[in-house]
Amino acid sequence: MNLLNVTIWNEFRHEKMDDTVKEIYPDGMHKVIGQALENHGFQVRSATLDEPEHGLTEDILAKTDVLLWWGHRAHHEVRDEIVERVYQRVLAGMGLVVLHSGHYSKIFKKLMGTTCSLRWREAGEKERVWVVNPGHPIAAGLDHYFDIPNTEMYGEHFDIPTPDELVLISWFEGGEVFRSGCCFFRGKGKIFYFRPGHETHPIYYQAEVQQVIANGVRWAAPVNGPAYLYGTE
Ligand code: ZN
Repeated sequence: MNLLNVTIWNEFRHEKMDDTVKEIYPDGMHKVIGQALENHGFQVRSATLDEPEHGLTEDILAKTDVLLWWGHRAHHEVRDEIVERVYQRVLAGMGLVVLHSGHYSKIFKKLMGTTCSLRWREAGEKERVWVVNPGHPIAAGLDHYFDIPNTEMYGEHFDIPTPDELVLISWFEGGEVFRSGCCFFRGKGKIFYFRPGHETHPIYYQAEVQQVIANGVRWAAPVNGPAYLYGTE
């Protein structure tokens, strides 16, 4: 059996600049997520902003079945030609899993075509993540909800196109709700946006969060569909 090839792209700046984040993720969030995905049976490599071509060379992307994306403070430093390269790969069938503050990344906004703006509050509130599509592959192995004890709030309205499939909705202690697990189809590619993952809380160590990410990777993986010839008959 061929293992799915997963590349985790992490901006990898907060972990170097912020002591709280460094303490939680001393080797970077991509290491913790990567270990979790290896435990779930994937072949994992990582790529970071400060590598040449942000670690996303043509060669690496060609070998990637599903790309994960975590970025926040340096979205603007991601070069447009690399964004275009990732965009073309998604349209050609590579899966993309966008995590947390990746909602404001160039690649997610380009794929959505909207501002991808939302409301947020950093108050360490509890989040309850509800499964609203229990038959969906991304809900596999989950209970009908799970809690994240302390997190940053993201609230509606989330300015995205209506998701093609909605799997998770979050409720926060402050009363807000948010579409936390959203699926989109673009070209031959699939995109899963998953909200949890604020860098000052150890969210990527949580088993349910790891399960959702693994399920998202599996769902977003390319399928061996027909190769269409476009144009005149
Ligand atoms: Zn955050």
